[in-house]
Amino acid sequence: MKLQCQVEVINRQHQVLNLKTSAKRLKSTLALGKEPKGETEYFILHFSSVNKSGTKYRVKSIKQVFVKCINEGKSTIRFEEPPHDLCIKSETIQLKCFMRLLKSCVTGDTQHVQVAPLASLSVTHKDIAPTKLVINHRSEYPIKGLPRTLESLYINGLGLCNFRRDILLLKQLVILDLSNNAIEKIPPEFGRMPKLSELYLSNNQLGVKGEVDWRWLMGPQITNTLKLLDISGNKLGSLPKSIWKLQKLVTLKLDNNMLDKLPTTMGRMSSLRYLTMTQNELTSLPCGLLQCRLEYLDLSVNKLDLTETAPEPSKHSPWEFYIGSLVDLASKVVLKHKLFYAPNIIPWTLVDFLDNANMCICGAPVVNNTFYMNKELQLNDYFRVVVFNNTKKSTVTFQCYFCSPKCFNR
Ligand SMILES: [Zn+2]
Repeated sequence: MKLQCQVEVINRQHQVLNLKTSAKRLKSTLALGKEPKGETEYFILHFSSVNKSGTKYRVKSIKQVFVKCINEGKSTIRFEEPPHDLCIKSETIQLKCFMRLLKSCVTGDTQHVQVAPLASLSVTHKDIAPTKLVINHRSEYPIKGLPRTLESLYINGLGLCNFRRDILLLKQLVILDLSNNAIEKIPPEFGRMPKLSELYLSNNQLGVKGEVDWRWLMGPQITNTLKLLDISGNKLGSLPKSIWKLQKLVTLKLDNNMLDKLPTTMGRMSSLRYLTMTQNELTSLPCGLLQCRLEYLDLSVNKLDLTETAPEPSKHSPWEFYIGSLVDLASKVVLKHKLFYAPNIIPWTLVDFLDNANMCICGAPVVNNTFYMNKELQLNDYFRVVVFNNTKKSTVTFQCYFCSPKCFNR
């Protein structure tokens, strides 16, 4: 059996002599096998990127095996001779299988398990755990399934209709590119990918059915790790209001969809720097966007030339601005100070209320949508680089909400 793992070899002799060792965790393969003749002589071979010929350890000389942290994918095998400790880090299930087999070899209970002769356990450079995989054709799928060690995966232009669920098992995945397929739905479990940072889904069919199930994008892990999201070319008619929960997102590509409005909550995306929305049907932008410190904004080929018929400024007394309901006042405090809230602490109706809060032109939270009007603003006053091709006017219509009479009259 072979185990793809990372191994740090510690020479205990060096520690006794107080010698400095340059031990590092290296990508390795551990192979467990037996001598072709000696039926009960078992060995562990350790190959690594710097030790291609491998080091052979006798199973008989194992002094101790440490498995306390095996559920975290860590284990250590201590040998009597040579005085080495192999500190192993690997995928948990594979490590457990390896340890189970090793136990059988130590106890001699190998009647029911197959241990290959050592000679057949040659290791090639291909065995070193792969971290990147590019699939451009269906025939290129690995027969044994996707290696669990993958950090980047590119499945591009295959016309896939369904999201491959084995991707959900790739807990090390940082970059996923599924561009140019025909994927309509992504399972909610995808939101629990622990390390995903860049996600390319351009030219798929996410919006083709109209109603999009966005739960995958709001998952507890992905909202904390995702830095780049490309959902261009997906026939999307709208974005979820809770998109602001992607708090680490720096780059968002929305080009070539059918968006006519952006969520008014987008101003809460404090990390967002690059936003492209070419070839949509936008007629206005939410004023919250002015709070994003965008370095690059591309709005070309939209309908921003059209002047939206502004709603009548609502008739109101200033008192309505000042005296909100208790819920309004409390919500403003929670949002202003970015206090943590979740459905296990407060009712979900309140969570929903807070999640959907708008933003005043000054950046303060607005929970009351009554005070609303359209304003024409020059984009260059707010963002560093703006690309847009309006021919009729140089301003863009912003949907503005107001937190106070002061902001309203500004
Ligand atoms: Zn304000």
